Amino acid sequence: MRDVIIIGAGGGGPVVAKELAAQGLDVLMLEAGGRNANPEQDWTHFEDDGNNPLSGAQRFGPSDRSKPAWYRQLTTPAMNMNMAGVGGTTQIYFGNCPRAMPGAFKGYSGEDAADYDRDFEFPFSYEELRPYYEWVEETLPVQTAAMGKNEQLFYNACENIGMNCQTSRDISHDAYRPQQNAVLQPGGNAGLSSTASELTYPDATGCTMCGHCVQGCYEPLGAPRNLKAKRSTDNSYVPMALTADAWATAGKAASIISDAFVTKIHSSNVNGKITATGVTWRNTLTGEVVSENAKVVVMAAGCLENPRLWQNSDLPNSHDWVGRGLTDHAFDLVCGQFPFDTGSTKGVGSSARADFPGKGCIEPTTIGPAFLAANLNMSDSGMRGYYDNGRGVYGQWDGPSGRPVGKELKSFLTDINKIMTMLIITDDDVEADNRVVPSSLLNDDHGAVSEITINKRTRSARTLANREFLANKAADILRAAGATNIVRADIVPLLIHVQSSMRMGDDPANSVINANGEAHEVDALYIADNSALSNALGGPNPTLTTQALATRTSEKIMQKHFAGSSWVTSNSPLSSIDNLVTQAVMSRGL
Ligand SMILES: Cc1cc2nc3c(=O)[nH]c(=O)nc-3n(C[C@H](O)[C@H](O)[C@H](O)COP(=O)(O)OP(=O)(O)OC[C@H]3O[C@@H](n4cnc5c(N)ncnc54)[C@H](O)[C@@H]3O)c2cc1C
Repeated sequence: MRDVIIIGAGGGGPVVAKELAAQGLDVLMLEAGGRNANPEQDWTHFEDDGNNPLSGAQRFGPSDRSKPAWYRQLTTPAMNMNMAGVGGTTQIYFGNCPRAMPGAFKGYSGEDAADYDRDFEFPFSYEELRPYYEWVEETLPVQTAAMGKNEQLFYNACENIGMNCQTSRDISHDAYRPQQNAVLQPGGNAGLSSTASELTYPDATGCTMCGHCVQGCYEPLGAPRNLKAKRSTDNSYVPMALTADAWATAGKAASIISDAFVTKIHSSNVNGKITATGVTWRNTLTGEVVSENAKVVVMAAGCLENPRLWQNSDLPNSHDWVGRGLTDHAFDLVCGQFPFDTGSTKGVGSSARADFPGKGCIEPTTIGPAFLAANLNMSDSGMRGYYDNGRGVYGQWDGPSGRPVGKELKSFLTDINKIMTMLIITDDDVEADNRVVPSSLLNDDHGAVSEITINKRTRSARTLANREFLANKAADILRAAGATNIVRADIVPLLIHVQSSMRMGDDPANSVINANGEAHEVDALYIADNSALSNALGGPNPTLTTQALATRTSEKIMQKHFAGSSWVTSNSPLSSIDNLVTQAVMSRGL
């Protein structure tokens, strides 16, 4: 019997694996997708080769690309973008690591407290999570993003509309600031050259500013895996977990099995309480079915798969809250066209941000032309200049919201370096009707597939008002930066930041896990990925908070089941974390 089995090796699972392996536990991680041993050889920077949701290397599907992607049923218009494989969706994430807004936590007493989703706050204080933030920021590490022309334009524009710069990692007021991210800063030739031959390791270290975070990071060429620029978990926490025997005092190397799709969590009645006892998985390459027992099972299969696995395993759900309360940051895109070069395709996915406590955030983003065209296409407001389906809205942008088509789209995409795209990241409410359930129509090799409902048009008044505020603010910033044509797309849900579908809370009537991360209704079953988040965090990108929470949950597991003690809080505060945004690197020439 294993000590701990972890289901899923994405943003959250490997954190628990690393922390508990370092304490000497026997940990097994099971990942449905493949394990890419050599991304440098297998991945390209071509957007379709990487991000095609059906056949791309970065799809949610089996490692054998000749086999179809795994299906999800969407009951409302939406686009789903997450990835299977060791590293999960962090393989294609931007690496932005802001802390959550303090107002999303219990006990917050700021004067803007009422602006947040108070009904679904975290069941403990922001101060309680701070040492775990520091631990993850030190481990990944999280540093100030490298910046260039795009960010300079953004900061100047923010100043011009009266905003100032926040210089702490904690978010306290409306402000712009450099991103804190999990991308190693450029060194050597990196950031100074665009010539491929000068950007190989060790002449170049860290981020080469290639602009292809979404196609998976394999830069700089020739760098060992743990010195690739982006600290997705396949490059960071997974190697640490698998080598814990070598670097942790009592550590034992964790094991990982990829191409292992977990189809059932086993449970039995122990002393009158349903208790998790192990799992069954299916080898996606051979079809072989295997079962193994464990003292503790940790679900980290992501927001869209955990509810399906729970219900396909017939685990209790007395309050019918499993899968409910899905948040997605109600994204939108506001895109500006400029008469000059903005440097918009250089560098990491986003190096700057503006935060608006109680409302959400805005990020200028670096995305390729296919991704941009696909996203603009997802408008819920018809086609600009052709037809308006009754939903086109006016604001600080030019004309009604909608998707640009014909000559306007062509002119946007003709010179992708003369645009700047603002991603609107809304602080959206937890709403019971936004949910994931096993489909009653469709099965695959792993049981009833996930059926996802998140209806953009019926979001709460607060969510919709926050989104409008941010879209107008983004247009103001673009105008101040010199944009001559601004388009607001008003997109349907883009399921990139999915959170809170198995939320943490004190009340079993509207949550699945307790404040320690353990299921209210199943002993020895924990959740440690984005689905465990209590709410949408106030808007900041979720992964750092998921990883901080997963670290805290690891301690709770160790304390309750293995007679361990705390190793994070006893080391806090970590000496090298000063809570300040520092070490900014300007990439000369880019
Ligand atoms: C383009 C893009 C950019 C992003 N940028 C950022 C950013 O800058 N900052 C940020 O914070 N977040 C960002 N995100 C979101 C970020 O990727 C997620 O927050 C994070 O990956 C979530 O971690 P997770 O563990 O919940 O899920 P995932 O990372 O999706 O991992 C879940 C894993 O479980 C596996 N799995 C699923 N079902 C099973 C099963 N039954 N058995 C075994 N394994 C299973 C999956 O294959 C997957 O590997 C971005 C996402 C995208 C798509």
